[in-house]
Formats: sequence, C-alpha cells, structure tokens
Amino acid sequence: MRNALWVVVITVPVMEDVFTFERLLEICADKSKLEDFLKEFNLLHTFDGRCQRCGVGVLYMRSDKSLCDGKNWRCSNKKCTLKYSIRRDSFFEGSKLSIITILKIVYFWSHGYPLEIVVHESGISAKTIVDFYNLCREVCGVVLKERSQKIGGPGKTVEIDESKFGKRYNKGKRIEGVWVFGGIERDTTPVKCFSETVEDRSAATLIPVIKKWIEPGTTILSDCWKKYSSLEAEGYIHETINHSIEFVRGNGIHTNNIRSRWCALKKSLPQHGTNKKLFKSHFSEYCIRQQYLSGDKDKFLEILKLISTVYHPKNEELLPSSPDDATSFMKLEMDAETCLQV
Ligand SMILES: [Zn+2]
Repeated sequence: MRNALWVVVITVPVMEDVFTFERLLEICADKSKLEDFLKEFNLLHTFDGRCQRCGVGVLYMRSDKSLCDGKNWRCSNKKCTLKYSIRRDSFFEGSKLSIITILKIVYFWSHGYPLEIVVHESGISAKTIVDFYNLCREVCGVVLKERSQKIGGPGKTVEIDESKFGKRYNKGKRIEGVWVFGGIERDTTPVKCFSETVEDRSAATLIPVIKKWIEPGTTILSDCWKKYSSLEAEGYIHETINHSIEFVRGNGIHTNNIRSRWCALKKSLPQHGTNKKLFKSHFSEYCIRQQYLSGDKDKFLEILKLISTVYHPKNEELLPSSPDDATSFMKLEMDAETCLQV
C-alpha cells in the first residue's frame, strides 16, 4: 500500500501587514508619527474654530513643555483665558498616565494579554491596568447598546435558553451567580444573538425580553418549559425539545447553538471568578470580540476605531461652552440592564 502524501500548506501572514507591539513602540518613539496616528484614528478632539467663551479669538494648539502632553488648546485672544487639555473629552481624559502608556494597555487588552503578564512587561500597577481593562469593556457595552437591533423575523429561527453564570464555591462558601437569558439566530453571518441578565426565569420576566429582542413571526426553539407556552399567542412559531429525554429532535429541533455559546462565554470569563457587577461588561467584551475583533481584522486597530466612535472626537457639537460642561465617558452610567448583541 502506498503511503499517502499529505501536503500541509501554512499561510504565513506578511509581517508588514500585522500591527505588532514593536510597530506601536516605533510610532510612540516619534512625536509626529504619534500625532498622525492619534489623528488618523480620531482619538483626540479638534477644537479649532471660533472660541465659544469670548467669541473673538480662535482656538489653536500651542506647545507647553510644562504639560505632560507637551501641548494644549488655547484661545488666540490674549484677554481670554480659555485653555483645553488636548485630552479633553477623549478616552485619555482623567488619567495621569501618558497617552503612550494608555495605548500600550489598550494594545495588551485588545490581544487578551493576561493581567499578570502585562504587569510584568509594563511595570504598571495591577490596579491601573484593571481600571483600563474595565474601561475598554465599558466601550464594548456602549457600542453594543448603540448598535443593537432585534433578531429573527419570518422564515428565521432563533434558539433561546437560560444559563447560570458565576455560581461556584469559594473556601467552602457557596457564591450565587447570575441568570443569563439569551438567543441566537441560526444560519446568519456574522452571528446575531442577544443575552441579558435576568432576576429570575419566570414567564413574567422572560416573555418581555423575548418580545424586546425577537421579531414576531420568528420560529423560536426552546426547552419545553411551561413558561414559554404563551409564545404562539405573542405571534411566534414555537418548537420545543425536552432535554430530559433527548437533545436533538427530528427536523433540526435543538438548542445546541445557544448552549455551545454559553460554554464559550463561560470560558472567556476570568478563571479566578468574576465580580457579579462586572458580568455584563465581560459579556459585552465577549460579544465585541466575536463581532469586531476576530478573523482577519487587527484587534488593536479595531478597538481604537470603536473607542473613537464612543467618544465622538470630531463632533463639533460636543464643544463645551464652559470647561465644566465637558462630557465624560467616565461619568456615563451603563444601563442597569445592558443588552448585548453579537
Ligand atoms: Zn477666547
């Protein structure tokens, strides 16, 4: 018998096309390259135009070596005292870290570097890194909220299911997790789904969530619990499977897609446990990574693009009339029931 010859073709990415950490360091080492980079990704506001305080001068950027960023916005009218930090209303505002350090942390986050490695490599405190990692997750939450839309519709099939997250034992003590309810549309690329933390699994809680996220006329697949019995009356086609008897019925009636999504989501959570309050932001991170930071896309450059959309750096209407009016993302409170969509 002749031996089969297997030819394995490995596609090696062209290194110039990959945005490596070395490339980021190269940009950060050159002031003008860094300025161009921040400009290209709309990461800083441009406050050019007539000064809104005095109405006489125009705003321009002036060098000031006493500032950590080396520059700020000033009014050209010498009688006017208006000054803006170049970080005003940006992702960088409110931090004592240099813009370069923050970019590095975002790079580490985008590639999913574990905290202990980032602490070791950067020398930055764990608390600071955790703060920025959380801020990146908040960006994910805002993006999802702004771009969310219903899934399903006539001719479409959506699997729904609930799963408990975070239930574990710590030093013999039982820690209660949170119930998450979600759905996934079949045969759609990119994947369309939603998930939402819920207080309980009653019909009174779940049916409104279904109506909020799934278009009428959709075929909904679920387990056969009574709580879903009103779905037909709500305008859906409802198929059920009894998981105590079988996992796949004929004609593709199963909820394996949503169940495997739960497994992937649970694996993506920190291994040492997750603060109950942070579950939503971790779900947001998972969804954003699935939709925007996967495949051929460069994770770092993509999250920078998302950050710029959240902070609207080029929106002239955001120009505050007084320094106290500045909009700040840090002040933005996430909706109590953040809805996630992939
Ligand atoms: Zn002025």
